[in-house]
Amino acid sequence: MSTIENKDYQRYYIQSNLVYFGAIVMHVVLGFFFLWLNSMEAFWANLVVFGVAVYAVVLNRQYRYAFASLIYISTTTIVITFQIIIFGMEAGLFYYYINMAMLIIFTNWKNREKVIGIVLVALFAMSVHQFVYFQTPIYVLPRNLIHLWHHFNLILNMFAIGHSAYFFMKIADEAEERLIVQAKTDFVTGVKNRGALMMTLDHEIEHHLPLGGGIGVIMGDIDHFKKINDTYGHIAGDVVLARISQLLMECLRETDVIGRYGGEEFLMICHVRDLRTLETIAQRMRETIARQKFEFAGDTLSVTMSFGVVYIKYKDENITSEKVIDLVDQQLYSSKSNGRNMVTAIES
Ligand code: GH3
Ligand code: MG
Ligand code: MG
Repeated sequence: MSTIENKDYQRYYIQSNLVYFGAIVMHVVLGFFFLWLNSMEAFWANLVVFGVAVYAVVLNRQYRYAFASLIYISTTTIVITFQIIIFGMEAGLFYYYINMAMLIIFTNWKNREKVIGIVLVALFAMSVHQFVYFQTPIYVLPRNLIHLWHHFNLILNMFAIGHSAYFFMKIADEAEERLIVQAKTDFVTGVKNRGALMMTLDHEIEHHLPLGGGIGVIMGDIDHFKKINDTYGHIAGDVVLARISQLLMECLRETDVIGRYGGEEFLMICHVRDLRTLETIAQRMRETIARQKFEFAGDTLSVTMSFGVVYIKYKDENITSEKVIDLVDQQLYSSKSNGRNMVTAIES
């Protein structure tokens, strides 16, 4: 599931299901409460919302998020209005209008539909306020009970609104984090992509080099890769790329960085103390790749790789990542023109 699809699933399925399941539990409790009050009108009205919340869960499973939220929000709004007429304004049921208006914001309805929905909820709330405020309720509850119920409704609605907003933010934050990772990752191999590599190299030149650490850069290019694609197809080529990136990674330490610079070119950035160590790493990579056997269409084949290696010892004013890439590319070119499957190294 892509990040975007996953975000929608979390927002419209998980988030609304939390609301419906919360409502189901609350309406079971309220059912007993209304029975205890001996208010059968309120009991049946409560049962209707309970049923609608259950149905909304079923609709959600069929991906009918918009219809599920429509019936849940409209039924709740109507039933709340009805219950305010029965129990009066003091029971704190009025807060549900604000809750419903906020739930509308979190639906997947079109913006125009959301505006209409919120206006309708507001009209219900205003009419109730206008016509019910000074009426004596049908059921006059004891003062303490009405206070208790009011506080319960206040806290419940504050919690519900707060939780929905928190959950929404969490989904957005997680989706953003996943998008950032995706934007830095190469799809075929799972290692860093070119943009992320260049950012790392810039950062190393700016921050690591002045500390006197030295940076090692290795560029590896698969030999005659085009032949693999031409003979066994692009999918086979992709498998080779993915496997080679793994093998290269296994030759590195955790603090080193690997990425795919281009088609069949990989770039490694290592923290080493001298050129010899860096060259040894590159030789180990070359040997590991040459030893690996790939099987395609009944054929067993070996792949070789050529490397260019550059060790940058000191921070020089003129040094840029472009220059480093140019230098390491020149070494790689030497390896290619001297027969491939070899390492050419230089210190700068
Ligand atoms: P050399 O030894 O000189 O490097 O020869 P080569 O065939 O490896 O180099 P060349 O530049 O001629 O061909 C590189 C090939 O890499 C061509 C292109 O089709 C292939 N390639 C680039 N990106 C991908 C990819 O993502 N997947 C696959 N399967 N092939 C790719
Ligand atoms: Mg190549
Ligand atoms: Mg190439």
